[in-house]
Parts: sequence; structure tokens; C-alpha cells
Amino acid sequence: MQALDLDLNELLYRLPNSGIIQFMGQRVLLFDALALGLLREEMIETLGLSAARGILTRFGYAHGWRTAEIMRRDHPDLFKESWAGPHLHALHGLVTPEQTTRTDGEGAEPLVAGVWHDSYEAEQHRLHFGVAGEPTCWTLTGFASGYVSNRTGREVYFLETACCGMGAPVCKIEGRFREKWGTSVEEQLSYYHMESVDTVLAELTTKLKGVEKKLKKRQSQLSCFDLDDELPCGSCRSAAMKETIDMAKRIAKTDSSVVISGETGVGKERIARFIHDESPRSSKPFVAINCGALTETLLESELFGYAKGAFTGAIRDTIGLFEAANGGTLLLDEIGEISPGMQVKILRVLQEREIRRIGESRTRPVDFRILSATNRNLSEEVEVGRFRQDLYYRLRVIELKLPPLREREDDILPLARTILSESTGQGERKITSFTPQAAELLLNYHWPGNVRELQNVVEYAVALATGDRIDIDDLPEELRTAIPNPAITGKIRSLDEVEKSYILSVLERMAGNKTKTAEALNIGIATLYRKLNGYEKQRNG
Ligand SMILES: [Zn+2]
Repeated sequence: MQALDLDLNELLYRLPNSGIIQFMGQRVLLFDALALGLLREEMIETLGLSAARGILTRFGYAHGWRTAEIMRRDHPDLFKESWAGPHLHALHGLVTPEQTTRTDGEGAEPLVAGVWHDSYEAEQHRLHFGVAGEPTCWTLTGFASGYVSNRTGREVYFLETACCGMGAPVCKIEGRFREKWGTSVEEQLSYYHMESVDTVLAELTTKLKGVEKKLKKRQSQLSCFDLDDELPCGSCRSAAMKETIDMAKRIAKTDSSVVISGETGVGKERIARFIHDESPRSSKPFVAINCGALTETLLESELFGYAKGAFTGAIRDTIGLFEAANGGTLLLDEIGEISPGMQVKILRVLQEREIRRIGESRTRPVDFRILSATNRNLSEEVEVGRFRQDLYYRLRVIELKLPPLREREDDILPLARTILSESTGQGERKITSFTPQAAELLLNYHWPGNVRELQNVVEYAVALATGDRIDIDDLPEELRTAIPNPAITGKIRSLDEVEKSYILSVLERMAGNKTKTAEALNIGIATLYRKLNGYEKQRNG
């Protein structure tokens, strides 16, 4: 028998009535290639490229080394054959090898050179990360290195000189003795050893910082929705917002489509994510796209995906967001902005529950919950004929209206404080609070940009503040000069009150200089003194 005669059907054996599969007498496991691809993706995302590459390279090395051990023991005659290694590689389903050439490895030519087709690794890497800038077949070169090192009893390393993961038609590999590689590939060889630990640690530290930041952000998002009264710093206290969140929680349990409406900056995407997180689909992806930011063509290819060659620049098959959201939730933000043509296409997807990638003829089933968000009044858009009624009814089984910030005054300061502690959390500067005058300004402003504007204002103030509290001077001009407009804020203040806060802020502006203040206000200095004394008495009385 020759190595090439080894047959998968004979080597693979399932122990009767058990969940144990053996390959050449050793227990093996069958994994879906995509699941392995996802594991790889997660390793890269969590640990960084270097650490993931090192781990997978050494994993492949161990696999190749073990396979050689088994061959040596069970098929010593076949083990001598040079084709046994590549053939076993193929039998494991990892790759299709061909055109292997060999030398004694002592000259300039490599010990082994060959071509690989169908690398599962290149395939998965491209699926999850697109075309790579460096070789991607880490477990495969690891396997070859482990196997051949075991077989020759010397350190042999394989590297790729071309890789499908980088867009090449095939992967090309070379295996050389350690000393024949020279120093130019030192970095690539480092993945075979644990010594690259310094690079790995540095990368890992950066990654961890990123994760920490994300977690922090996530926590603050949660605190904004946290209604547990035991927690003192839940940021939403207004009745309007509590009611909204309560409704969102109930909506989350259904699978209905929801339109989230509200002014710009009220946090529509946040609440969409909240609905997703509270829903039975929470373990699946949450995918959001801003429909208003893209041209019709771009939006279509983003949503539907496309086949390689479907249009100029479509260099590979690409899945769209409808597919990416599979099992999970898709948020179409600024849905009111999409064109009539696009409305028809989206309607069709919602009706048929299947999509066709651009440039493909086959359809693919999709399963996602659809949420949409808009700052327009969609029913008005329907009335004037800008938005299709049938699509409107599909999208808006339930409508969730987010109140603007000015209608929930009780939330302004708690939110501002939460944002303040987030913005100063990591720096050395300790800005702990707002002066009463600054807090007053925050409350009097009508917040046309809502929570997002509040966030910007606080971050701006943190950057400017010199003391340990944010004061009037640290706030942007538009807040300092805003005169509360009752038509907008709904709040009416007495003239005395308005006058008092105005006079005090001018005095503040003039650094306490009463003469200049009186001049600026065009009142007599005596009048100013009288008023200030009055305020003084109020405070003490
Ligand atoms: Zn490759």
C-alpha cells in the first residue's frame, strides 16, 4: 500500500452507539469550518492579530506533530513516503495540496515547495476580514512544520510565499530547515515560538483598553435605562422617559416591527439597541445602518450584498446587512430618507422574507426583526405621497415616541452628571460637579439637539474647565446667551427671576466689576446696588 491509498472511509470510524469518532485510531472532532472561522475571528478581535496568529500557528504545529507520531507508530512503511504528509493534510479536509517538489534541503532550494488549493483558513479569513495584507494559512503551515519536523528530526518551518487570503489564486508554500531561512523572515518564524510574547502583550494591552472602554460605555448606556430605584444614579428620572422605557421593555418581548420616532439626538439608536438586548434575539447580531447617509446604489449594496463581479469594484462576494442581521435585529435609521425605489425593494424583502444579492439569481432566506427610526412624521409623509403606505404599515406595527429632552427636565441634570463622570473618569483632572449657576443654565436651555447636544456641551465644558467644578464660563456661548423661550421650553419664569439671573450672569462676565456691569446693562450703578442687595436679602432671608 502507498500513502496515497489511505482512504478516508477506512480511516474514519465511529464507535458504535457513541459520540466518539476516531481517525487512525485517535479520537477526532468534526467542526464546521465556519464555526472555526468564527472562533478565529473572535481570537483576533479579543487578542489581536499577533497573539491569534501565534496561537493558531502552534495549534497547527501540534496537530501536524501528533499526526506524524501516529503515522510513525501505526504505518511506519507509509510514513517514509514523502507524499504521506500532504495527503494526510488533505484527508483532514484542511487543504488540497499539489505539485510538491523536494530536495535534500541543504542547498539554496527549499526542502519542500508546493501549491495549496482550497485552504479552509484563507477562505474563512477572507470571509470574516476581507483580503489580508499578509499570509493567512497559519494552522496549515503550522501543521506542515510540525509534521515535517517530526519526520526529519530537525527544525523545519513552512512559510507561504503567496496566499489565497491575500488574493492570490493559490497558496504557495516553502519548507526549509531553520538555519536555511536566514534572518529576513525572523518575524514570521517568531509565531512558532512563545518568545514573541512582548509584541503580543503590547497588542493585548491595547485590546484590553479598547474592551474596557466599550464596557464602560455600555455600562453608562445601561445606567441611562436603569430604572431600579435602589440604584441612586439611574440617569432617567422623568415620568415621560420611564414610561417610554417601560413600553420598550414590553415591545422587546414581541417580534413586531417598531418605528422609533423622535427629534435628532434623543437617543433613538440607543433605545433600538435596548429593545434588541431585551428581546429573545439578544444573543444574535444587532445591525444598524443610517439610510440617510448613503446614496441609493450604496444603500442597496450595503443592505443586499453582492456577487463578485456584479459591478466595478465588486472584487469578492459580499454579504449584505439583511443577511448579517440573521437571527437578530436590523435597525434602519432615518428610514424617512429612502427613495421610492428603495422603498419597494425593502417592502419586498419584508413580504417575502428572502433576498437576492446584487448580481445573483438565487434567493436566500433571511430572518430578522426590523426596527426603524426617523425624525420625520411618517404618517404625514404617507399622506403627501412621499412614503409608501404599505411599507409604512409593515414597519410601524408599533410606534415608540421618544420625548425631546426639554420635555423631560428632570433628566437633564442626572444625564449631565453621568456624562460628566464619564468624560472625566479616565483623566487626572477631577471635575466633580456643576456650579449652581451652570446647572441653572443647563436647565434653562431648550436643547434642540437633545441628549447628543448635552453630551457635546458637557464634553466641551470639561475640556475648558480650569477649576474642579464646571462654571458658566465653561459652557458654550449658545447656552450662556440663551433666553429661555417659553414657546419652546413650555416653562414660564417671572420677569424678576429672569432679570436676576441675567444681571448675575453679566456681573459674572465682568468679573464682579459693578461699574462695568451697570454700564453694560445700561442702568445706574445705584440701581444695580439696590438689586444686588435685594438678592442678598433673599438669600439670607
Ligand atoms: Zn494561504
